[in-house]
Amino acid sequence: MTPLLTAEGIDARYGDVRAVSGVSLHVDQGELLALVGANGAGKSTLLRVLAGAHRPVAGAVGLRGDDVTGLRDFERNRRGICLVPEGRRLFASLTVRENLLVGAGSRRPGRWDVDAVADVLPMLRPLLERNASQLSGGQQQAVAIGRALMSNPDVLLLDEVSLGLAPIVIDELYESLAAVRGGGLAVILVEQDLQRTLAVADRLVCMLEGEAVLEGTPHSLTHEAITDAYFGHV
Ligand code: ATP
Repeated sequence: MTPLLTAEGIDARYGDVRAVSGVSLHVDQGELLALVGANGAGKSTLLRVLAGAHRPVAGAVGLRGDDVTGLRDFERNRRGICLVPEGRRLFASLTVRENLLVGAGSRRPGRWDVDAVADVLPMLRPLLERNASQLSGGQQQAVAIGRALMSNPDVLLLDEVSLGLAPIVIDELYESLAAVRGGGLAVILVEQDLQRTLAVADRLVCMLEGEAVLEGTPHSLTHEAITDAYFGHV
């Protein structure tokens, strides 16, 4: 079976800084792949390369077997790749409902509308007419995820959704993530919290200093192997 999304030999830089070196990975339809690693390991950059928001200096990105490396971010979005970047970036002067509808701008056919989003992210239902500037961090993050769903993606790229949020809010977002995953949606999740990641991931890839140094299922990898890869004792 052709994987849904593939990265082959990705090198990415910021000027002289090497952020990603020779990384290959894939995610299948319906799979949740977690990308773990310390600060600066290159996880966000790799997500940006997959989404078309950062141009790699080498390597290729494939979607259902088609080479999409030359496509811009909005073109990949139209084909079903959607990035929820770190930092949420909502329109502060618009309501929650309006922010969600922004995500439907380049809409593909599919299951998501405002009502379906409010079903899986129930904290949003009473807030639909509220201004985004009045939301807590967790509520803003829920809107950012909901807005991404509104484009009816096949692959959702989530960058540190739980950063800076209270544990109880993170629990709620992770429950939503489980509900979101029905219907074959693939997810690549960047997350600092290893315990949480291991609980939800089908498979994980650990990055260290720009390279993918470990790959496997949570069951096949020992905690020691993961922490060694994470902290560079390999
Ligand atoms: P974090 O969890 O801190 O976001 P990360 O694993 O996502 O870390 P990246 O943000 O991809 O890692 O960073 C990879 C490398 O690229 C780091 O050395 C970082 O300092 C560098 N880097 C990231 N963004 C930029 C930028 N805009 N300009 C210059 N260097 C950058």
